[in-house]
Amino acid sequence: MTTAVVVGSGPNGLAAAIELARHGIAVHVIEGADKIGGGTRSSEYIVDGLIHDDCAGFHPTALASPFFRGLDREFGFADHGLEWLWPEIDLVHPLDDGTAGVLWRDIDRTADEMGVDGKRWRSVFGYLSEHFDALVEDVFQPIVHIPKHPLILARFGAGAILPAAGFARMWKTPQARALFGGSAAHMFGALTTPLSSAGGLMLTAGAHAHGWPVARGGSGSIAAALTSILRGLGGTIETGNRVTDLSSLAGYDIVMLDLAPDAAARLLDGHQPDRIARAYRKYRYGPAAYKVDYAVRGDSDGTVVPWTNPHARKAGALHLAGSMPEIAAVERQTARGEMPSAPFILVGQQFLADPSRSVGDIHPLWSYAHVPHGYSGDVTESVTRQIERFAPGFRDRIVGVHVRNVPQMEAYNPNYVGGDISAGANTPRQLIARPKFGLDPYATGVPGVFLCSSATPPSGGVHGMCGYNAARSALKTSN
Ligand SMILES: Cc1cc2nc3c(=O)[nH]c(=O)nc-3n(C[C@H](O)[C@H](O)[C@H](O)COP(=O)(O)OP(=O)(O)OC[C@H]3O[C@@H](n4cnc5c(N)ncnc54)[C@H](O)[C@@H]3O)c2cc1C
Repeated sequence: MTTAVVVGSGPNGLAAAIELARHGIAVHVIEGADKIGGGTRSSEYIVDGLIHDDCAGFHPTALASPFFRGLDREFGFADHGLEWLWPEIDLVHPLDDGTAGVLWRDIDRTADEMGVDGKRWRSVFGYLSEHFDALVEDVFQPIVHIPKHPLILARFGAGAILPAAGFARMWKTPQARALFGGSAAHMFGALTTPLSSAGGLMLTAGAHAHGWPVARGGSGSIAAALTSILRGLGGTIETGNRVTDLSSLAGYDIVMLDLAPDAAARLLDGHQPDRIARAYRKYRYGPAAYKVDYAVRGDSDGTVVPWTNPHARKAGALHLAGSMPEIAAVERQTARGEMPSAPFILVGQQFLADPSRSVGDIHPLWSYAHVPHGYSGDVTESVTRQIERFAPGFRDRIVGVHVRNVPQMEAYNPNYVGGDISAGANTPRQLIARPKFGLDPYATGVPGVFLCSSATPPSGGVHGMCGYNAARSALKTSN
């Protein structure tokens, strides 16, 4: 029987493991941390029973992922304890005057409430959200492939190639511009570079197609469901074993690495062809995430965070940075290695969709700031101040705080090199050739060894498609 080992149990490692096990291969997963799941872990940091997502909180990419959809059809996620829950509003981007850009799952409601910008919002996102699942079939593939839906891909590509800062000018109001710009900023980088619109287009079209759901009980339920499916297929998992030596993987026919390229290069040192070893060494990492989780006491009237904008009180996710020019300025600074005084912040109110995460009137508030690569300073106060800017009185409701700064982020998961949670900068070059140019981005150049982390296409997010595609590549080569 063919055997495989998967190093790392993030969603891509588990996806690779499941896809191989589905094909009758005996799979063993080795995870360095004590808990499986990589970016899909949840914890009770501050108050017993109060559930925080350690990393990923919102899952439009999981809903859209051909791999996840196939698994749900075949195994039924509900039978493995995974259920999606949606907030009333997917995303709100508040501005200083109390107004906000508001993203409803319903595109008509979003457009109707936008006034003068509604027509254009519908014309950009109507087509892409209607054809979102088809678009994903192409975008979630390596760049070199024969497109299944060339017209849809071309329509997406025509916008994606543009710098987000310029693209946003197609809307007139600061609310619509900021709403798009905040989603584009998920790619961590200057919004003036080509292809920086890609993330904003995908996340917004994805919101109108599927919403931005959360997992009941925390994102850890995703890891638990994938693990349960893998075990059902005969796969085995061990935790607390960080792999540092290739010889410890000897004896397996296939090796899948859910690792960043620098760790893969160290592991494969002396075995990779020079050209590929060089590409892994030259691979660049981007800005970092600084994570702050709060426990917040709510009012008897249901108010938890006292956002000035009423829609913000119903939103699962919020982007805090002010107007589009401000977002572009702080993202440019961060990409250059300078720490802005008011950084771009993402906030999650998952408890609105999933009350099981709260304890009585105490609620878990998730947030992270974009900070420069490798930044070692303390920005907790800047994060709190940025929330307070749009929700005066927030500070008085804080019951407890848990911080994971950049060095702690990297220690928590070595794939976050310098705190980069995307396992590689989303530069135009690395969006096209990730982690290297070539027909098979998953091949490491060492026979039987494949890279399957988000340093491969289609890059970051909880969708398992890097792992699934890498496993398909391994199956093709091993047959
Ligand atoms: C703060 C934060 C917020 C995020 N928000 C979202 C979101 O809302 N939605 C979304 O879709 N995505 C989000 N993401 C991104 C998402 O979590 C990642 O893109 C995704 O988890 C990548 O999956 P992966 O399997 O490639 O790697 P990871 O999830 O990083 O898993 C890699 C695993 O490998 C293990 N490992 C590393 N080295 C070794 C070794 N030598 N030996 C053994 N094991 C090893 C690590 O411990 C880890 O468990 C967020 C990430 C962070 C950090």
